[in-house]
Amino acid sequence: MPDQPSLVFGKIKHRKSGTSQKLKAMVDGKWLWIELEGGELKSTPEAWATFGLYPAMTTGSRIRLRDQPSPDKVWAANTKALMEKMTGWWGGKIPKIVTDQRPGWRRRFGLERRPRKRLLFFSGGVDSFHALYEMIRQGTPPDALLFVDGFDIDLTDTAKSEVYLSALDEIRSHHRIKLLRLKTNLRKMPFYRKCSWNNTHGLAMAGVAHLISGYGEIYVSSSFETIRDIPYGSRWDVDVLFSSGSKRFHHVGSGILRATKLTDLCHDPLVQRHLRVCWRGRGPRKNCGECEKCLRTELNVMASGQQERFSCFDHPEPLACRFARIEAKLDPLVRMWQAAKDQSLPPDLDLAVKAMLRRSLDKEPSVPKELASERAEIESLVRYCGYEGELAFES
Ligand SMILES: [Zn+2]
Repeated sequence: MPDQPSLVFGKIKHRKSGTSQKLKAMVDGKWLWIELEGGELKSTPEAWATFGLYPAMTTGSRIRLRDQPSPDKVWAANTKALMEKMTGWWGGKIPKIVTDQRPGWRRRFGLERRPRKRLLFFSGGVDSFHALYEMIRQGTPPDALLFVDGFDIDLTDTAKSEVYLSALDEIRSHHRIKLLRLKTNLRKMPFYRKCSWNNTHGLAMAGVAHLISGYGEIYVSSSFETIRDIPYGSRWDVDVLFSSGSKRFHHVGSGILRATKLTDLCHDPLVQRHLRVCWRGRGPRKNCGECEKCLRTELNVMASGQQERFSCFDHPEPLACRFARIEAKLDPLVRMWQAAKDQSLPPDLDLAVKAMLRRSLDKEPSVPKELASERAEIESLVRYCGYEGELAFES
């Protein structure tokens, strides 16, 4: 029988210079690096193992951590449950983790001290802003916001990250919260590049959080609402399983619809100036104004009557012209219809939205099983736009 392949994390290096710190680990002959500005990095076995979980699961490899003790017991128990869930969704094999140092007893039993400080991942999107205000409202504001360069902003797109950093600076100083800026080449690493970002982004966030010392309570804002049971790399029942003995993960906001969050946020001048929903466009513009997510959010903003104030949507062309150029998948089409149906749109925009819905439905061969719970919504959407084609529901 051939030897089982190994994903090896070794030769860990730590460098400090001024206010910035860099941790590196050699993986398959290339350096995986993580750089942090404004905080402290500390190598932990939980971090490296977390980065390796999904790639090892899909390739049937084991994870080997050189010169590291085993991850703690709390992390190990959570990871077992997490991997059972993920292999159930996406197949693959639960990886074995091999280390070559004996852990101290505190680490072995997950009894390391958990700092009280709260850290919130903050990308500037609707869910991030909602999580920030929800934490403030509950009297537990984050001690720091964490912004990551190299996840949804490409490392080479320095124009976008610089523009957004000045926005973050305004948000941070308004709320008197510290800002941590992290950069990493994780997504460029050969072992990670082939993995679906939809499936792995939660693990990537968890991995970097396990390297930041001084913060024990880690907050991740929701992507999908709880009512939508779609396999995804970060959700209400996944994020909590990233926890270890010294870091506890929290998931914020999955009980509230994104459109409702946006309605609540629409009057906030910081949101009007700095909301960033787009992951597509490059360059200094915060939102490309061309993709389905930008256009859908602009429709949501119109419903609040605040669109003139939203300087973060600064595309020079009218919305109707831009709708004429796009198509979308079924799931976002439902959100788009929900954004449009209860407002009286100007006639040209109404025509453009309905034509876009029909054009997109034409490209959908059938409704997949995971959208079965949305059948009534999809049928209403079909009636709303006057679609006359056949749409089969998979059973
Ligand atoms: Zn966009």
